[in-house]
Amino acid sequence: MIRTRVECVQGDISNQPDMDAVVNAANAQLQPGSGVAGALHRGAGPGLAQECQALAPIRPGQAVITGAYDLPNRRVIHCLGPVYGRDEPSEQLLADCYRHALALAERESLVSVAFPAISTGVFGYPLAEAAEVAIATVLAALADSSLTRVRFVLFSQADLVVFQRALDAALTAA
Ligand code: ADP
Repeated sequence: MIRTRVECVQGDISNQPDMDAVVNAANAQLQPGSGVAGALHRGAGPGLAQECQALAPIRPGQAVITGAYDLPNRRVIHCLGPVYGRDEPSEQLLADCYRHALALAERESLVSVAFPAISTGVFGYPLAEAAEVAIATVLAALADSSLTRVRFVLFSQADLVVFQRALDAALTAA
């Protein structure tokens, strides 16, 4: 039953202790930055940036997986979202992030993954459009997946409303 496996919450992606993996809205060099990458690297400690060095750079749409260090999760999955208006086709590259992240989680037998709203901060992807892509992609991937829970973690209440609406609309249409 897909509707019981996807949820949207307001919160901080670096404080999701009940999830096997958290997803980083990374930069190409996989280094600490602002927003999600800053919060996750702060929570993880310096070991994360060290491990990341060997995996960088990554391309838009690509995902890689690392340890979680001092974060309360088993793994961190790093995705490079498209910069809106520059990396094209942006919709496909954004969908690739979600698909590749879920595939990595499954490959490691993880059952729960928390995502931030990839590309909607510094990378400028309009939130409502990003929500549609994120939710359609995750719902499609879950239909054929052993994952039991996917959580979208939105930083603000306003962003949560947008994602929750997109999820409700997709589930109603299904
Ligand atoms: P990108 O470079 O992919 O746009 P950002 O980290 O700049 O990534 O932002 C992605 C989204 O995550 C934005 O909507 C931003 O408001 C949100 N965000 C920022 N910090 C956090 C956090 N600690 N937890 C969850 N979401 C966050």
